[in-house]
Amino acid sequence: MNAEPAPQYAARALLAFWRAAGVDMEAAEAAYAAGAARAPAPPAAAKAEPPAPRPSVRASTPSTVDNARAMAAAARSIAELKQAVAVFEGCALKTTARTTVFSDGVDDAPVLVIGEAPGKDEDEVGKPFVGRSGQLLDRMLAQIGLSRKENVLISNTIYWRPPGNRDPTQGEIVACLPFVERLIELSRPKLLILTGKAAAHTVLQREDGVMKLRGRRLNYTRQGSGLVVNAMVMLHPAYLLRQPQQKRLAWADLLLAEAWLEELGVARAAHP
Ligand code: URA
Repeated sequence: MNAEPAPQYAARALLAFWRAAGVDMEAAEAAYAAGAARAPAPPAAAKAEPPAPRPSVRASTPSTVDNARAMAAAARSIAELKQAVAVFEGCALKTTARTTVFSDGVDDAPVLVIGEAPGKDEDEVGKPFVGRSGQLLDRMLAQIGLSRKENVLISNTIYWRPPGNRDPTQGEIVACLPFVERLIELSRPKLLILTGKAAAHTVLQREDGVMKLRGRRLNYTRQGSGLVVNAMVMLHPAYLLRQPQQKRLAWADLLLAEAWLEELGVARAAHP
């Protein structure tokens, strides 16, 4: 018979499942072990405890989201928002990630790029898009005179690396969304570029596929605030690394961004 308390047993079973699925679990298991060591002994009569909620469910409980909203709303600048994210404890991914990855680039940039989630390289460095896909993103932006040194701010829809680079869960996304929305509100970019499906769906709250959303002039609207921001969806650079033949679509999207930025009078560096 299993003598572990049900929540710990369920968590351990989940970790075992992830390991069997090929997920890199070293960090996750270290965090689990630390949590289990701290956990109080179960009361003798507590036989029929409900199963432990998955991290995603816990992360999206109303109080967690309310807390995220309050913390995000209290931030008066992007620097304060970054600080709020750093101390936010409502996303379970924080327990397995090495660093909090919030943003890189110029805080008052006219262009805000939002991707999906930090990967291994980003988790090590603490900045978004520093691995291979980030390098491709930088090269793409440079084609239209944009760079994180001068006129771009880059962030993600979640701020901690999911173990083994699995897709973020709905709960993790929902927990971080108030910070994403506040970032857009504080930076008020002339153009918001959403790379890939997760960013497009999360920010635009639309279920259309990326192939349908890309290549179009869209709006991001923030309900209740009256904020309307020019937005476009681009193919994610990680997808382009896997499907290089799709780079022609990315090129078309870059040309669209360039034309739009030109109309908006956004200053850009001389480019090829
Ligand atoms: N992919 C993303 O979506 N974001 C990163 O920061 C890195 C890779």
